[in-house]
Amino acid sequence: MHTIKAWAAPATSKPLAPMTIERREPRPNDVVIDIQFCGVCHSDIHQARDEWSGAIFPMVPGHEIVGRVTRVGVEVTKFKVGDRAGVGCMVDSCRVCPPCVDGLEQFCEKGNAPTYNGTEMDRKTLTYGGYSTEVVVDERFVLRIPNGLDLAGAAPLLCAGITTYSPLRQWGCKAGDRVGVVGLGGLGHMAVKLAASMGAKVTVLSTSESKEADAHRLGATDFALTKGGSAFQRLAGKLDLIIDSVSAPHDYNAYLGLLRPRGAMVLVGAPPGAASLRPFSLIMGGRRLAGSLIGGIGETQEMLDHCAKHGVVSDVEVIPIQKINEAYERVLKSDVRYRFVIDIASLK
Ligand code: NAP
Ligand code: ZN
Ligand code: ZN
Repeated sequence: MHTIKAWAAPATSKPLAPMTIERREPRPNDVVIDIQFCGVCHSDIHQARDEWSGAIFPMVPGHEIVGRVTRVGVEVTKFKVGDRAGVGCMVDSCRVCPPCVDGLEQFCEKGNAPTYNGTEMDRKTLTYGGYSTEVVVDERFVLRIPNGLDLAGAAPLLCAGITTYSPLRQWGCKAGDRVGVVGLGGLGHMAVKLAASMGAKVTVLSTSESKEADAHRLGATDFALTKGGSAFQRLAGKLDLIIDSVSAPHDYNAYLGLLRPRGAMVLVGAPPGAASLRPFSLIMGGRRLAGSLIGGIGETQEMLDHCAKHGVVSDVEVIPIQKINEAYERVLKSDVRYRFVIDIASLK
């Protein structure tokens, strides 16, 4: 074991502060990554505030990790020292259950090992995330970051990117489809860029008037302000697919009305608590409501390669770790354009 620097939430809703953590010495299949950038996902905030319950403190958040390989175990074949590497929301899974075998490690029947706020598969060793200088992960859960991608801009692809790419693929997004993206934050802006890169016509549905110009710059062809309600009449029955990335409770029924018959709305935003659903919101038009959780490791690599091919990265505001508590407050006010990314050099 060796000691490294990190920032952690010491207890529920307490400001993040410096601490040290232990990382293991590399096992034969491990890759040691010197972390250069780590994205700030709204899930970091939900968990640091224990909004989904079951949080483990002290918590080192961060699951949008990119950096350089500094050491590899003797059996590692995919990576060598100096390579660019990334880690997303999982660091291990059972590897043998049907979902794992199918490349759906996020649905591992034993429960995967989350990058933080959980344990390794031994169910004892706590995991700590990317608000830290180094991470040690089995190569099966390490992603290759294609050389063409800006490293800071690539960090959010490890969660925001795959979380929006996966439902677009699952629901067969193709050229000419009309895709609605609800909420233009970290996930939402990646949904816009990725749907546009697949040839879809994207409508952004937002509560923030100030984001209209950005929505067009990011690749949307249409912007609808959801405050006031007229957007719901104008777009009724028009959309093939909706990706809902909103982090706070809101009325799903209103958005379901925007789908064409048999269209689908996929929830990726995870506000705490229960939502109310009118059965007729689904029955009329045979509409479908679904959810999606990040993506498997193979699909995450496919997404990174797709992004390299289409020149897609996240729009980032790079911050030193010392600004993390302020950044959380700004995310909560929807005041981020469009992802904070921590420059881990500020921690070293
Ligand atoms: P974010 O950057 O804060 O974006 C959320 C956006 O939702 C905001 O920018 C805002 O967009 C909109 N919004 C916020 N409060 C709202 C309200 N009260 N009513 C309507 N719209 C509101 O967050 P993020 O990092 O993209 O994450 C979004 C959600 O996805 C979080 O709940 C997160 O935990 C979840 N998540 C899920 C997965 C998964 O695998 N399913 C993975 C990662 C994250 P406008 O200003 O445009 O309205
Ligand atoms: Zn995330
Ligand atoms: Zn499994």
